[in-house]
Amino acid sequence: MSEIIIVGDGPAGLSAALLLAKNGESVRVFGTDDTPMHKALLLNYLGIPKMTGTEFQETSRAQVEEFGVELHKTKVVGVEQTEEGFRIETEGGESFDGKYLILATTNKAHQEALGVDRKDGVAAVDRDGRTNVERCYAIGWASRKHKIQAIISAGDGAAAAVDILSEEKGEPFHDFDVV
Ligand SMILES: Cc1cc2nc3c(=O)[nH]c(=O)nc-3n(C[C@H](O)[C@H](O)[C@H](O)COP(=O)(O)OP(=O)(O)OC[C@H]3O[C@@H](n4cnc5c(N)ncnc54)[C@H](O)[C@@H]3O)c2cc1C
Repeated sequence: MSEIIIVGDGPAGLSAALLLAKNGESVRVFGTDDTPMHKALLLNYLGIPKMTGTEFQETSRAQVEEFGVELHKTKVVGVEQTEEGFRIETEGGESFDGKYLILATTNKAHQEALGVDRKDGVAAVDRDGRTNVERCYAIGWASRKHKIQAIISAGDGAAAAVDILSEEKGEPFHDFDVV
């Protein structure tokens, strides 16, 4: 079981948290739920005919907590690499370590502090959200200047999670459940 730190609690961060936690990883998500989703009325999210962004956030937060994700309602003010992985510091002065770090905010300072390559004003990543920094991912608005729908951010989070799970298991992982 790996300690995974996710900075950002919008659709991207919560989606990554869901897949990781439901597959047994230890996940902490940091953020104050200050997402533009609270302005949105979702009519474009497949499987959800109509829902306010606030309802989406509430449902998603409860869903990830069911799987054991620890939601820390605070901002992250510092990030650094350590020998084992990453350390983040919160507004309240607490610090937490993780083997993997997922950046799911537009915070440029965090990316720069870690030496994450940027392109067109956002983190440069591959299809799974991997940055040039080993075990550091950037998803959703952190790595997208355009094409910024909620379902796309959630998809980015899911792709990063499956990539981490594959890394940890040493083989391609599929998150399939059956009736
Ligand atoms: C007015 C408006 C209407 C919209 N309507 C729709 C719509 O109908 N359908 C649709 O698909 N999309 C809509 N969107 C876009 C949608 O809101 C985004 O696609 C979505 O929020 C992106 O998710 P994300 O997780 O990538 O980023 P965000 O939702 O921005 O999540 C980032 C999170 O990180 C947190 N954070 C920031 N800094 C820190 C820090 N230092 N430490 C910890 N946490 C931090 C933020 O508070 C936020 O909660 C709308 C956007 C706006 C502005």
